[in-house]
Amino acid sequence: MKRQPLLKRTHIIKLGRLLDMMYKPSEIAEEIGVAQDTVYRSYLPAGLPHERDAHGSVWIHGPAFVAWAKETVAKRKSKRKGLPDDHAWCMRCNQPVVMSRPVVKPINRYLEVLQARCPQCGTKVNRAKKRLPSPFCKDGEGLGEGS
Ligand SMILES: [Zn+2]
Repeated sequence: MKRQPLLKRTHIIKLGRLLDMMYKPSEIAEEIGVAQDTVYRSYLPAGLPHERDAHGSVWIHGPAFVAWAKETVAKRKSKRKGLPDDHAWCMRCNQPVVMSRPVVKPINRYLEVLQARCPQCGTKVNRAKKRLPSPFCKDGEGLGEGS
């Protein structure tokens, strides 16, 4: 039995508050209206994209949380096993739509967000994705950064 993350309608409605910034679990919890414990025990094990800094603190990117939460709820609703890679959930059409030529926005080393417009209604759709590890190390190619 797989445990579903504790995400209710009331939490989803509050997603609009989240800004394009990194949140601590306690801050996310406060914005959404859940216990901090819920973030650690329910969301993170359920696959919420996050990263840890050098001190072991968890950081969650606002838009990544929104995308994850919506996708999680959408999956539950549709009882599908996830959307195909090139699809995202359109909240207005209430159905999965094809992302044509999505814009990929890297969030950090591990995550990226794919953004596109719904081909049917034009609403912005996005989904968070784990970045594939780059096969090549692009450091030190003479960009002259940080020298
Ligand atoms: Zn749509």
